[in-house]
Amino acid sequence: MHIVTLAGGIGGARFLRGLRTTAPADQITVIGNTGDDITLFGLRVCPDLDTVMYTLGGGIDEQQGWGRADETHVVKDELAAYGVEPQWFGLGDRDFATHIVRSQMLEAGYPLSQITEALCARWQPGVRLLPMTDDRCETHVVIDDERGRRAVHFQEWWVRLRASVPAESIALVGVESAKPAPGVLEAIADADVVILPPSNPVVSIGTILQVPGIRDALLPKTVVGVSPIIGGAPVRGMADACLTAIGVETSAQAVLSLYGSDLLDGWLVAPEDAGVALDGVRVEARPLLMSDPAATAALARAALDLAQELTS
Ligand code: GDP
Ligand code: CA
Repeated sequence: MHIVTLAGGIGGARFLRGLRTTAPADQITVIGNTGDDITLFGLRVCPDLDTVMYTLGGGIDEQQGWGRADETHVVKDELAAYGVEPQWFGLGDRDFATHIVRSQMLEAGYPLSQITEALCARWQPGVRLLPMTDDRCETHVVIDDERGRRAVHFQEWWVRLRASVPAESIALVGVESAKPAPGVLEAIADADVVILPPSNPVVSIGTILQVPGIRDALLPKTVVGVSPIIGGAPVRGMADACLTAIGVETSAQAVLSLYGSDLLDGWLVAPEDAGVALDGVRVEARPLLMSDPAATAALARAALDLAQELTS
């Protein structure tokens, strides 16, 4: 069976780890968010692709949920000693190597999709990881703080400001001319089921869905989503700030309506959100906390079971 998933960083990667254990013989293609990508110190950094790659490849810092395990920060400290900005983005030494390889290959003319494949040759994530697009397309956020009203890169708002300044709007710069990366539309066409993990509905899943052609390709498919919101709160992180920015309430119901019944066929909510409903979508209540590997695998199994039920 061919399974396609869309994924951001931590939420997506953890869910995928469960999916991989529960569907080991299946072919899983992951379409990763690249809207978070940023160039730092001359290096191209792809936080969400790397979180998926490190998590599934066994190299993730489990506590933090992103970055490498057993990490040191000598390069970061040396850059700071030179006064080089930005100092708010924490890149570790091991992680730097990934960004050096990627940047070197970009400079040599390789597209991001081929570079991601090359990086995954080392990590063997057990899924096919495709960037949503090879084209440069970055999320920016309009804020108004003591320095005035301006657009900043998503990472500056998320990491430096910890989303503490309200976002007036969120825009995916460059998306109009972005094309799905090679293999993305083919994988969707070939998919038996599509699963949306509990990733950020605005700046992870919402970003991927904005790449021209992707949402349309998903519409005829059986798509099951897992709510990233439990009892009116994002389980971890600050997804509520992103939802507020686009005028959507932080609830499993509102995210369901945001995705819509044209996209979704099934929607998993937490037991406390039973009662959430939308015409044309089968809603089921399941434990949604990815608290340990067994609970995560059970959640992935539930999503897959619902998707298979809805296809038959
Ligand atoms: P990011 O790119 O690292 O922010 O990660 P994602 O976009 O993939 O996922 C972040 C989202 O995952 C958060 O907004 C949370 O709402 C959601 N999330 C994190 N842990 C859990 C969990 O255990 N259960 C559920 N249902 N959602 C979770
Ligand atoms: Ca992200």
